[in-house]
Amino acid sequence: MPNQKRDYYEVLGIAKGASAEEIKKAYRKMAIQYHPDKNPGDKASEEKFKEVSEAYEVLSDASKRQQYDQFGHAAFGAGRGAGGGGSHGGFGGGGIDLEEALRTFMGASGGGGSIFENFFGGGGGRSHNPNAPQEGADLRFDMEIDFEEAVLGSSREIRINVNETCNHCKGSGAEPGSGRKTCATCRGAGQVVNGGGFIQFRQTCPTCRGAGQVIEKPCAACHGQGLVRNKRTIDVKIPSGVETGSRLRIAGKGEGGLRGGPAGDLYIVLHVHDHEFFKRNDLDIVCEVPVPFHIAMLGGEVHVPTIHGTATLKIPAGTENGKVFRMKGKGITSARYGTGDQHILVQIEIPQGLSSKEKKKLEDAVKILDEKHFPLMQKMNKAAKTFYDRKRILEKEK
Ligand SMILES: [Zn+2]
Ligand SMILES: [Zn+2]
Repeated sequence: MPNQKRDYYEVLGIAKGASAEEIKKAYRKMAIQYHPDKNPGDKASEEKFKEVSEAYEVLSDASKRQQYDQFGHAAFGAGRGAGGGGSHGGFGGGGIDLEEALRTFMGASGGGGSIFENFFGGGGGRSHNPNAPQEGADLRFDMEIDFEEAVLGSSREIRINVNETCNHCKGSGAEPGSGRKTCATCRGAGQVVNGGGFIQFRQTCPTCRGAGQVIEKPCAACHGQGLVRNKRTIDVKIPSGVETGSRLRIAGKGEGGLRGGPAGDLYIVLHVHDHEFFKRNDLDIVCEVPVPFHIAMLGGEVHVPTIHGTATLKIPAGTENGKVFRMKGKGITSARYGTGDQHILVQIEIPQGLSSKEKKKLEDAVKILDEKHFPLMQKMNKAAKTFYDRKRILEKEK
């Protein structure tokens, strides 16, 4: 494991003064390149993906970035290797456990439907004062979408179970009108002493969780939790150009806040199904197009499916197998990143199932062809001839 963590700017290949947009762009490119889905079983890519994600997690957050610019990696606990274990407790605020995030990230897929869980441990910054307002936790929702939805955009309605701020107590956990009393377990200290003999350690009081006080009369609706589980329907707008790993943030749709704190955000993490014909490379579409052998030979036109509809592609005479043509602007349009192209890989198709009559006619037609029409064959024959000439001389000398 490397002891020396690489500079976050270096990891993303950007300048120190890069704009938020540049950071996002660099991250996007690299996240796609090293995404575990694209490199299954490739440990190096996985490490790289983690490193890139970690760099982005910090540089995309203005306050974390500022801390990093000032103190470097020391701002978040020094000396940890990119793949190292342990918590990211040094991160300001809620502290995203990247390892955990990645695990859920990579584990999510397959036909099992959507996974819904707490994405970010503690929401946006857990306060030490148990009476202070607390922001709700951010949530992650994994969503599988079709190729068509990803390239053209769509909207979906999802139903999720969310812990919402309890209406009855407004998230305080206390029955309206009731107050708080000193915690009996810790007698108000907020801590308890455990163990015996030589080893004693202090622990946060499990009854009041360090507050020193407990609710006198818990709210009847939420049993003192301040939150109640509700089914919620959310409209998700999927912009065109998203891909596997794209995250949509829906502000204020995460878990409810406590004691007047704001709700967290909901993050929709997208998983895009492959298409059997259209393959993607960023915003470009790549596809293999069968071209009848006589059109490749004589030139002509073929109809090519694009995500915008059928297009006509001119094939010059003498086109070889494997040649790539580019159709400009026929790729995916993303409001943020522009429009890609479609790349067409020519796959010359030889006619199948010819009748003997058809064969006869074609035989007559191709009689006009000889070696001079086949430069590759000519080249091979020339090389072979030189070899055999040389061989003959060597055998005579023996
Ligand atoms: Zn309540
Ligand atoms: Zn207590």
